Amino acid sequence: MARFGLFSNDVGIDLGTANTLIWQKGKGIVLNEPSIVAFDKTTKGIIAIGYEAQEMVGRTHREIRTIRPLKDGVIADFEIAEGMLRAFIRKISASWQPARRMVICVPSGITEVEKRAVRDSAEHAGAKEVHLIAEPMAAAIGVGLNVHEPKGNMIVDIGGGTTEIAVISLSGIAAEESIRIAGDELTSCIVNWFKRQHNILIGERTAEIIKCNVGSAWPLEQELEIEVKGRDMMSGIPKAIVVSSEEIRNALNENVVVIVEAVLNLLDKTPAELSADIYDRGIILTGGGALLKGLDERLRQETSLPVIVAEDPLTAVVRGTGKVLEDLTAYSSVLIKSRRH
Ligand code: ADP
Ligand code: MG
Repeated sequence: MARFGLFSNDVGIDLGTANTLIWQKGKGIVLNEPSIVAFDKTTKGIIAIGYEAQEMVGRTHREIRTIRPLKDGVIADFEIAEGMLRAFIRKISASWQPARRMVICVPSGITEVEKRAVRDSAEHAGAKEVHLIAEPMAAAIGVGLNVHEPKGNMIVDIGGGTTEIAVISLSGIAAEESIRIAGDELTSCIVNWFKRQHNILIGERTAEIIKCNVGSAWPLEQELEIEVKGRDMMSGIPKAIVVSSEEIRNALNENVVVIVEAVLNLLDKTPAELSADIYDRGIILTGGGALLKGLDERLRQETSLPVIVAEDPLTAVVRGTGKVLEDLTAYSSVLIKSRRH
């Protein structure tokens, strides 16, 4: 159906476990906020979403709870996820007209039931036409790969809840591996390490700041230090200590190893012709986890392949989704085929 008017309410959505990004047709990225909801425990009414809700994490009282409704890459709390999606869409809508057409990314390993849940959420949020696309496919399009050609490309998308690894060729996913070890688990490594090594309790947000600032997967040219504040578990009193990037690297290693192994595993399962392509073209890293210092070098060392961190890895998926939305006809072959009801 042709659409007329000054702007369109068609949107492309990267409903990530950590961040939700929305692309509005003809405009580009119009929303980029954490996938967090603060809600009233008794009424389940939403009090805040996105950045506003993030500010409340760890600081709420008994009646208010904050959750990330998309834990592990799938909708963990259907009602809240739907409310969040609707609130985000309302936030960007210039008029009260709901979004008509939506292209939404989903993890590649998602089940039929989980797809149904995403589709239903989108429809309840006002969509008349919903298209689903696998995240690694959207990431590949977002980084500018020609996904239609008969060549193999390997994408490693490290988000908050899942690491999605896929080999893409001829508009489809030729091989894939999805693990539930990603950014969140790396952050947990840091929380646990402080408990074990220093008897200090630190918050998730503090651990995430440590990870992003001094975390690494390979020795740094210049090793770093950071002062960390937490609560001494023995005395219960706030305490500050200085830790080094080497220590944090060791703390992260148990989960970095799992990510590296998943990549090696998929390389092992990849058809030979496509392996040859990957040998020439290398591996492309996207998602926020791609920003972990030295992860590219670590993968280079372990695979002996070229490894490239995508430009602006946090927005690759939504940019890909946006390209698909802007030209649905050209990209119809990359969409997930699904049964209509
Ligand atoms: P999702 O698609 O699941 O929403 P994103 O691709 O938005 O996830 O990535 C979010 C993850 O990236 C979080 O776990 C965050 O801690 C991590 N991240 C963001 N920046 C960095 C950084 N500089 N170093 C390491 N991890 C990072
Ligand atoms: Mg993502």
